[in-house]
Amino acid sequence: MSDTDRIGDSAGEHRTALSSDSSAMGTTVNKVCCMCGVDLHGRTRYKDSSGRYWCPTCNEKDRLAKEPATCPDCNQSMTRADLVDFKGTAVCQSCWEKRRAAAKREEARLRALEEAIREEEERKRRLKIYLSVGLIMVALWAIAYAIYWFIARSAS
Ligand SMILES: [Zn+2]
Ligand SMILES: [Zn+2]
Repeated sequence: MSDTDRIGDSAGEHRTALSSDSSAMGTTVNKVCCMCGVDLHGRTRYKDSSGRYWCPTCNEKDRLAKEPATCPDCNQSMTRADLVDFKGTAVCQSCWEKRRAAAKREEARLRALEEAIREEEERKRRLKIYLSVGLIMVALWAIAYAIYWFIARSAS
């Protein structure tokens, strides 16, 4: 693939690559990128059918954006520009909304689950306290009874 092959008709707009300024086209037109506004004097630039200039970066971005793509969720065909990133996966706008709603539901479900686990742990903790209090009381009662039994026995 030569340098000229790479150059621009892929977007279907007949953009021509111009590598540098030449006196032959010494117009006073402002050679700035129509997308990002970068000055393109003496730099590689692309010109589209409506006479606008594109810097290589914006041209490439635009070319990529117009490439056909498929939404992995609904399998609809579209261009890359229609896809929105959702946590590393590019999906269409409506699937993005769906994924976000699903993620929110999942988040709420996890939160409820966490809450239930916390409550269960709290319940177990309380049960342990009651149990140890009960054991201490039984032990105290046994000690008191032993003392009483000892006194009663030595008195007789
Ligand atoms: Zn640009
Ligand atoms: Zn989709």
